[in-house]
Amino acid sequence: MSDARTPLLEVKGLTKTFITQGSGVVFSGKNEFTAVDDVSFAVNARETLAIVGESGSGKSTMARIAAKLLEPTSGNVLLDGVDVTHAKGKELAHFRSKVQVVFQDPFSSLNPKHTVERIVMAPLDYQRVKPPTKRREFVRDLMDRVGLNPDHSQRYPGQFSGGQAQRIGIARALAVGPSLVVCDEAVSALDVSVQAVVIKLLKDLQRERDLSYIFIAHDLAVVRHIADSVAVVHKGQIVEHGDRDSIFDAPQHEYTRELLSAVP
Ligand code: ADP
Ligand code: MG
Repeated sequence: MSDARTPLLEVKGLTKTFITQGSGVVFSGKNEFTAVDDVSFAVNARETLAIVGESGSGKSTMARIAAKLLEPTSGNVLLDGVDVTHAKGKELAHFRSKVQVVFQDPFSSLNPKHTVERIVMAPLDYQRVKPPTKRREFVRDLMDRVGLNPDHSQRYPGQFSGGQAQRIGIARALAVGPSLVVCDEAVSALDVSVQAVVIKLLKDLQRERDLSYIFIAHDLAVVRHIADSVAVVHKGQIVEHGDRDSIFDAPQHEYTRELLSAVP
């Protein structure tokens, strides 16, 4: 099944069409909007693939499909060479134990009524991963590792800053011991100085835990510090895809050059 040449996660020919109902008096037909148009990419073990492109270009839709939070209209998702596009039940639980997501807005992705401990443990409870024997200690260790005070495990998300809340989201993603973490603009909402610290944390965790990342960003400057390879997205399509240095040093596509010209 999986060997050195099988990517950890691969998506092939992903297309996502949203159907939006026209609501005007004169026009009430169906509108079809293709947010993701025949997109393929692969991420290998311990690799960071950055997906960059302006707001509205389809990045989050791709991320959600790759993380199996959204079904594609067509195309396939493969984990370790196995087609999981329509995985349900036990297979889906296995997928979630391997692939986790960190979202852009930590406050809207963390239940405000749950303690940090409950939030961090939730994936273990629901995703058929063997629970740790020492639950409290497990959470404390994870909090410590992501730079949170372990004594704050009974606090609620609203009691943390944005950067700290994002660390809770990272701890939650790590709890199941995933192989891949999809970071959808995980640092975009943070102050620039906090961004750098969180990126350093993600890089350190990658080394320690053999993680792969799909790192989504609209800002090319951010991906320079973390990506091994970069896919540039424009209007739902990947217009250029290559290793980081070739994208930054010798961009082939006009749109990539445009994005780069915005990098300070
Ligand atoms: P990005 O993450 O690059 O900003 P998104 O994937 O969020 O882009 O969105 C891509 C396009 O798809 C946008 O035009 C957005 O309005 C549209 N879109 C996203 N989700 C939906 C949905 N559930 N229904 C209709 N349109 C959507
Ligand atoms: Mg997005």
